[in-house]
Amino acid sequence: MRLLEDKILRYGKVYPGNVLKVDSFLNHQVDVPLIAALAQEIYQHYKDCAVTKILTIEASGILLAGMTAQLFHVPMLFAKKSAAKNMSDEVFTAKVRSFTHGNDYTMVVSKEYLCRDDKVLIVDDFLADGNALKGLTEIVKEAGAQTVGAGIAIEKGFQKGGDRLREEGLRIFSLAIIDSMTEGGISFRSDI
Ligand code: 5GP
Repeated sequence: MRLLEDKILRYGKVYPGNVLKVDSFLNHQVDVPLIAALAQEIYQHYKDCAVTKILTIEASGILLAGMTAQLFHVPMLFAKKSAAKNMSDEVFTAKVRSFTHGNDYTMVVSKEYLCRDDKVLIVDDFLADGNALKGLTEIVKEAGAQTVGAGIAIEKGFQKGGDRLREEGLRIFSLAIIDSMTEGGISFRSDI
């Protein structure tokens, strides 16, 4: 999506360790009309999939997920991050490696809000190694529900998480896929 690519080129900052900072429009200060435009693209892509729920992980994907949910007229559900090891019977959980913090955490969703009839669209701001997305698909599976696909704002294609999950059969729609990224420049995959 040209609008998002232009924003990344203009305001994105590349940090050591393959981290792209987009704090000025996505992850800290938020450009709300931009997020609304991203949500609209995701909606157009999946609008015929009978989606019943949008699922994301706290925190920075929540606005995009919420605006997407508004277009589908369905609830938005966000998995909570928890350090606790012992979880009650009331929740679905998945253990995930955090790309940004380098530690493990458990994502938790209450069983009350996800059921086997749900058709779930997963929405997130970033896709890197794919651990967060994989964890969310595991939770959907645990619930006996169906993941119809994922809508991602920025995929770091060179980290291969997206390609691996596509090979496993997951439908992924990313609005910008970064093929390479250095302090000298960022280039995007053109065939999306
Ligand atoms: P993954 O699990 O796919 O490796 O990483 C996905 C999660 O890590 C996203 O939800 C996002 O919060 C965070 N993340 C991964 N790479 C980046 C990055 O380059 N910049 C920012 N700001 N967050 C990232």
